[in-house]
Amino acid sequence: MMEKIKLVQGDITSLKVDAIVNAANTSLLGGGGVDGAIHRAAGPELLEECRKIGGCPVGQARITSGYKLPARYIIHTVGPFWRGGNGGEPEKLAACYRNSFALAHEYGLKSIAFPAISTGAYRFPADQAAHIAVKETCAALKLYPEIDMVYFVCFNTPCLESYEQTLKNGC
Ligand code: ADP
Repeated sequence: MMEKIKLVQGDITSLKVDAIVNAANTSLLGGGGVDGAIHRAAGPELLEECRKIGGCPVGQARITSGYKLPARYIIHTVGPFWRGGNGGEPEKLAACYRNSFALAHEYGLKSIAFPAISTGAYRFPADQAAHIAVKETCAALKLYPEIDMVYFVCFNTPCLESYEQTLKNGC
C-alpha cells in the first residue's frame, strides 16, 4: 500500500495527475489558499462549471474538468472549519477523503493528489489532519485497487513534517 503513496512539497496545480483535489468552500465559487491557486491556474471556465453545480455541503465532493491544468479533473471537497474538535470535525474531514476517493473510483481515475484539506484558513491541526488523510487513503487503496498513486501535496514544512511522522507507521 505504501508504495502507492507519495509525499511531495510544492504547488498542487503543477501536478499532471488524473485529478487534483481542491479544498473548496461550500459556495464552490473560489476563495483563498489552494482554492484560489486552482481557479487561477485552471482559468475562468472552471468558475462557470462550478456555478452550475450550485455549491457543496461540508464533507461532500463534486468533480469538474481540469481546464488549463495539467490534471484532467478537479475534485472539489469542502473541509470542516476547526471549532475545537467537538463539532464532528474529524469525521467531516474523513468524509472529504472518502467522498473524493469514491468520485475518483466512479470516474475510473488512477492517480489523485490531495492538499492538506482544512489545515489552512480552516485551522484544522496539521498532525490530526495528516493522520485522517493517511488512514482514509489506506482504506481507499484497499477498496479501490485500480488507484495506483496518491500524492499528498504540502505547501509548507509543518505540513510535510506531520505527514512524514504519520507515514512512518505505514498503512
Ligand atoms: P482550507 O480552507 O481547507 O484550510 P487552505 O487553502 O487555506 O484551505 O489550506 C489548505 C492547505 O493547502 C494548507 O496547508 C495550505 O498551506 C495549502 N496550500 C495553499 N496553496 C497551495 C497550493 N498551491 N498547493 C498545495 N497546497 C496549497
